[in-house]
Amino acid sequence: SPASIGVTGLAVMGRNLARNFARNGYTVAVHNRTPARTRSLIEEFGHEGSFVPAEKPEEFVAALERPRRLVVMVKAGEPTDAVIDEFVPLLDAGDIVIDGGNAHFEDTRRREAALRERGIHFVGTGVSGGEEGALHGPSVMPGGSAEAYAAVGPMLEKISAHVDGEPCCTHIGPDGAGHFVKMVHNGIEYADMQLIAEAYDLLRRAAGRGPAQIADIFRRWNTGMLNSYLIEITAEVLAHTDRETGTPFVDVVADAAEQKGTGRWTVQTALDVGAPVPGIAEAVFARSLSGHTDLRAAARRLPGPQKPALTGQDADRLVDRVEQALYASKIVSYAQGWNMIQTAADQFGWDIDLGAVARIWRGGCIIRAGFLDEIRSAYAAEPGLPTLLADEEFARRLGEAQDAWRAVVATAAERSIPTPGFATSLAYYDGLRADRLPAALVQAQRDYFGAHTYRRVDREGTFHTEWSGDRSETRR
Ligand code: NDP
Repeated sequence: SPASIGVTGLAVMGRNLARNFARNGYTVAVHNRTPARTRSLIEEFGHEGSFVPAEKPEEFVAALERPRRLVVMVKAGEPTDAVIDEFVPLLDAGDIVIDGGNAHFEDTRRREAALRERGIHFVGTGVSGGEEGALHGPSVMPGGSAEAYAAVGPMLEKISAHVDGEPCCTHIGPDGAGHFVKMVHNGIEYADMQLIAEAYDLLRRAAGRGPAQIADIFRRWNTGMLNSYLIEITAEVLAHTDRETGTPFVDVVADAAEQKGTGRWTVQTALDVGAPVPGIAEAVFARSLSGHTDLRAAARRLPGPQKPALTGQDADRLVDRVEQALYASKIVSYAQGWNMIQTAADQFGWDIDLGAVARIWRGGCIIRAGFLDEIRSAYAAEPGLPTLLADEEFARRLGEAQDAWRAVVATAAERSIPTPGFATSLAYYDGLRADRLPAALVQAQRDYFGAHTYRRVDREGTFHTEWSGDRSETRR
C-alpha cells in the first residue's frame, strides 16, 4: 500500500519521528542520503510498524500517496536546501514538504515563497523535545498555509505529545511562524536554565546548602508553582555523584556553558524586530562569559566582599525567597518571549494564537511546565493581552513575590553572587511599572549632540532646542 507520509534524513531525529509515525499506524516511506541508515532502521525497528524503505529519491517519492507528504529531517542550513532542490523536481503541485529541522525562520520564509511559486506547500515545522520527544511525542510547531495544515496537521497532532488529551501541536501561522515560535521556545529555555542556575548558586553560596540538599529543595519546588521538566532534571543532576571521584557531579563539570546557536538567533532577531528580551539576552551572554576563561583569569583578583554563608533561620528564609524570586523572574522571561512572538506576528502579518502556544508547550518540549496552563488561561481570558504581566493572576503573583525578589537580588549583590537573570527580570518589571523613566534624559542628550529632537509631555509635536545658540526651542 502507498505510504501516507515519508521521512528523509534518518539520523536520530528523523529515525525516531519515522518510528513515531509508524507506531501510530501510518505507513511510512523512509529515505536517507546514505542508504546504510535506512537499512539499519528497517533491521532494528522494521517490526514496529509499516515502513517502505527507499534508496533512491525517485523510489521514495513514488511510494507516497497523493498529495505527497514528505518530512525533511536533515541538518539545518545548506543541507536542507540541497535536499529540497533534489526532491522538488520530483513533486507535483499540491504536494507538501515538511521541514522538521531547526531552520532559521527567514530561511523558512524564503523556501516557502519559492515552493509556493511551484504550487508546492512548504510547512516549516519546529520540533522540540530532542530524540526522546521525537520518538514518544514531541511538541510540534508547524507553519505554512491553512490548506497545508489541513493535509498534515492531523498526522502531526497524532504523533505529538498529549496533555489532558490535547495534542501539543497546533497550526502556528503562515510561512516562518512555526520556526519563529520554536526559536523563541529555545530562547526561553536559555533564560529558564540560567535562572535555575542562579537559584542554585544562591542556595549553595549564600544559604550554605550542599548539592544533595539543593536537589531536595528542587524536588520540593517541583511539587509547587515551579513544577517543570527543567526543575525536575536539575534535582536529578544535583543529586548525582561522580562515579570516579565520589564528589558531587556538578563540581566535576567545567564551568563553561556552550551553545548551539538558537539562543543567539533569538536575541539577534529580537533586536531586528525591536522586542526587548533582556532575560534571554542575559542568559546567552552568561554562557558566553562563562566560556571566556581568558577574561575570567585576568579578573580573578578584583576585589569583592568575603562573607560566610547564612545559617539557621536566615538561611531558611533565603531558600524560600529564592523560590519566589525564581518564579517571578521566570514569569518575566516568559512574558518577554510572548511579547517577542506578538511583535513578530504584527510585523510579518501572522495571526498567532498566543494561548495555543502555551498549550502546545505543556508537553514534549524542554520548557514544559505546570504554569503554562496559567499562561494559556490568561490569553483565553484576554486574547489581546498586551503583556502577560498585565494578567490579573500573574500581576497578583508578582505582587506577592516582589519583596522576596528584591531581597534576593540585593543579597546576591552584597555577596558578589552574579544573578544577571534575576536582576534583569526585576529591572524589566520595574521598568514597565515606572511612571517616568530616565529615557527622558537620554532623549534630551540625543537632542543635544545630534539634534535628534524630542516630544514633550505637555504639547503635541516634535521639538529641538538650540543647544549651541540661545537655547530657545523650535518646532520641527
Ligand atoms: P543531524 O543534524 O546530525 O543531520 C544528519 C542528517 O542530515 C543525516 O540524515 C544526513 O544524511 C543528513 N544530511 C546532511 N547533509 C545532507 C545533504 N547535503 N544532503 C542530504 N542529507 C544530508 O541530524 P539530527 O537527527 O540530529 O537532526 C535533524 C534535524 O533536526 C536538524 O535540523 C536538527 O537541527 C533538528 N533537530 C534536532 C534536535 C536534536 O535534539 N538533535 C531537536 C530538534 C530538532 P547522511 O546520513 O547521508 O549523512
